Amino acid sequence: MTPQQSINQRDNDISLVGLGPMGLALGAALVRKGHAVTVWNRTPEKADGLVALGARRADTVAEAVAASPITLMCLNDYDTMYEVLGPATTALAGRLLVNLNSGTPNEARAALEWAGTHGIDYLDGAIMVPPPLVGEPGAVFLYSGARDLFDRHRPVLASLGDPRYLGAEVSLAVLYNTAMLEMMYATLNGWLHASALVASANIPATEFAELALDWFMPTVLDPASLARRAPALDAGDYPGTLGTLAMNLNALHHITRTSEEQGIHSAQPRLMREIAERAIAAGLGEGNYLSVYEIFKKPDGA
Ligand code: NAP
Repeated sequence: MTPQQSINQRDNDISLVGLGPMGLALGAALVRKGHAVTVWNRTPEKADGLVALGARRADTVAEAVAASPITLMCLNDYDTMYEVLGPATTALAGRLLVNLNSGTPNEARAALEWAGTHGIDYLDGAIMVPPPLVGEPGAVFLYSGARDLFDRHRPVLASLGDPRYLGAEVSLAVLYNTAMLEMMYATLNGWLHASALVASANIPATEFAELALDWFMPTVLDPASLARRAPALDAGDYPGTLGTLAMNLNALHHITRTSEEQGIHSAQPRLMREIAERAIAAGLGEGNYLSVYEIFKKPDGA
């Protein structure tokens, strides 16, 4: 890259560090949307496809970040980000770093502090879609940090999908991200364990899915019905008039015992049963099942 190219930066120039499966998808979406994209990756040949599409390959990370007013990071974790950006902090000063790596709230707060000590503007972010959906209109990206930085760079961030601003507290993007991933894994595990339960009687997952998912979606996982129940969590209001937690404990016993009887793994239902038992021991047995929320809000063993 010539010095002239880095002097003539336009607002929609963007640099991208990290070309795993997700970084490659980000790069392709940005090139498609007409951005001048400069990329760097530890393994340089992973950029070949993007270069063929029109991206520019930087030889060093410092050269990459100097090419644009914004740098997107898409690495495996925060520690790798510090390692990779170590030689590029001077080049990044006065520019925006948008970190899309996964991590924890404390890691996001530490990254903001680190950026501040180097004069780097910082937003934290999280990607809520798999690589093939990046750049599509419904692709949700979460951001947190200074509002003015988000507002100023929103048009560029919108090229990746639907940017949602969560607030000035920089850790909110990773907090929401982990909460939403927890919903995903818990739901998937419920379906997988239930499929294993009927598979123990030689029923294929496809046959079970046909009936079970037809029941599950409108009855249990209907978004409107869950949204109607969310105010009860905020209010701590769990009337047991239509069914108590004590009654639900019976069902959790049955799932655990049936798993054991059928010779499949039983740790998952046992854990759900133990949480319900803890809630009952805390005096919540006459409320409805949602009252286990009170147990989840406290640290283990409290
Ligand atoms: P990944 O395996 O998490 O990250 C791969 C990237 O990290 C590559 O660029 C790799 O470089 C780089 N890297 C790893 N260790 C390094 C080191 N010591 N020094 C320099 N570079 C290093 O793959 P990914 O799927 O692209 O994910 C990137 C981020 O996106 C993650 O934080 C992930 O949580 C998030 N995300 C991914 C998905 C998904 O479905 N893939 C969905 C949502 C969010 P090399 O190419 O040289 O190995």
